[in-house]
Amino acid sequence: MEFLIFSKALYSTWVFYKPERLLFDAGEGVSTHLGNRIFAIKHIILTHGHVDHIAGLWGIVNTRNNAMGDREKPLNVIYPRGNRAIEKYLDFIVSANPDLRYQFTRIPVEEGEKFFLRRAGSFERYLLPFRTRHTRDELSFGYHIIEIRKRLKDEYRSYDHREIARLVKEKGRDEVTEVYESKVLTISGDSMAIPYEEMEGTETLIHECTFLDKSQRRIPNHVSIEELLPLVKEAKPRRLILYHISSRFEHRFRHYNEEIKRELDGSGVEVYLVHPSKIFKL
Ligand SMILES: [Zn+2]
Ligand SMILES: [Zn+2]
Repeated sequence: MEFLIFSKALYSTWVFYKPERLLFDAGEGVSTHLGNRIFAIKHIILTHGHVDHIAGLWGIVNTRNNAMGDREKPLNVIYPRGNRAIEKYLDFIVSANPDLRYQFTRIPVEEGEKFFLRRAGSFERYLLPFRTRHTRDELSFGYHIIEIRKRLKDEYRSYDHREIARLVKEKGRDEVTEVYESKVLTISGDSMAIPYEEMEGTETLIHECTFLDKSQRRIPNHVSIEELLPLVKEAKPRRLILYHISSRFEHRFRHYNEEIKRELDGSGVEVYLVHPSKIFKL
């Protein structure tokens, strides 16, 4: 399992990403659903301070302190620096839980500021926040997970194994290879469509899609499928996971699911929709 997601617009949203032990947002009910898995979380990454994305944080902090599990594992909360709602809520959580047995660290980040998730030998992955367009008075971020990788330099790509081995011996590995960065994951949080440059080249795009039908939207603070799909077709992520879908579309969920799959058929994009009242596993 890679992802465990619950997301129903206005009610609760959380995304557990197992490979990096991350939880993006912490909506209501998250600890109840994750159960013992809450002890596996290393970082909780908040996109913004709306209640449907943060209400479950207190539960996680408290349950990790009291339930059976490794109570000493540290826990970090990463969030947009200067987001007042989140800061006030964190102040409250800390004051309501003065005897935490583990280290609870608040890490405010700025747009474009790298936060390293892993640095083991040549394997490096970092988190990169970017600005999103949601509501006017709410500072909101989307995030990338970026991996630093190595590949053969262009001029050596046509060489066979033996020639490459000889070159490495002769000139050293660094001379033959180059470092590049690859987007492993991009998550929008609540937002209008994120810019094309942000979604371009990402392996997995998790994008909100509150409105599966644009005619239902009154205020431009969430994206609709009509705006998102043309961008996605161009940007061609390998996988697209649509979440934060409004429950008003629940009764015709199957219909929308089929429509969107048909629309992306042949584009090379694998698409999944997160049902607004079911846990999504991938
Ligand atoms: Zn929301
Ligand atoms: Zn929101």
